Amino acid sequence: MRKFRTPNNRWISGSVLLIAIGSTIAMALPSNFSISSDPVIKADSSLDISVANEDVAAADLPIIETPAVAKLGAPGTEDKVIRFKAQVAEIAAREVARIAAEKERKAAERRALRAKYTVNPARARISVGYGRKGRIWDLGWHTGIDFNGNYGDSVFAARVGSVIFTGWRPAYGRTIEIKHLDGVVTRYAHLSRIRVVAGQEVDVGQRIGNIGASGKAFGAHLHFETLVNGKYRNPGIWLWGND
Ligand SMILES: [Zn+2]
Repeated sequence: MRKFRTPNNRWISGSVLLIAIGSTIAMALPSNFSISSDPVIKADSSLDISVANEDVAAADLPIIETPAVAKLGAPGTEDKVIRFKAQVAEIAAREVARIAAEKERKAAERRALRAKYTVNPARARISVGYGRKGRIWDLGWHTGIDFNGNYGDSVFAARVGSVIFTGWRPAYGRTIEIKHLDGVVTRYAHLSRIRVVAGQEVDVGQRIGNIGASGKAFGAHLHFETLVNGKYRNPGIWLWGND
């Protein structure tokens, strides 16, 4: 499981390392080096800092150009080099903070999109979670999530997609399968009624059927599954963003 990390010690250590890199560049300059222009930020970088912080790609970082013209022995060179070193450190620190803020903003955007475009397939509490072991299930474990609704309650498409199967499946009873834009398939089982047909496009939250107890079910509930390349995955990944 990979979660977004808020700026922490690793960011701080990343900043320190970048400052060190910047300082090293500045130190490498001859001591009588004179600065004729301000440091320039470029989009690409030849610095390989991938080891420094895996969250920061080398290409994301600015390259701080060394001044193009050196005037040997010019007055005030020492001060200019000190100022240049400070600028390098400041730019590196600012850039690390900017990248952290940008990543946090994108993560928040993704969370908002997920909340907007994925909904629970039933308005009911969960009675059996994913992965529970037990001999009552054919595979010896529970391959989906059970929503403990009442007979006849509405069942909703969890996301936008197209219906790829409707009908009877052994154990599952009356079943709907929807393929979503990213290839994930959601399966809705034990239905009492199917309200869509194969080939139909459905919207997120659209009513597609009703809760029932068809197939191998001991009482009315919705059995909800997600499949990726034919393999069961925890529906919680999509519904609540966890693994
Ligand atoms: Zn179930």
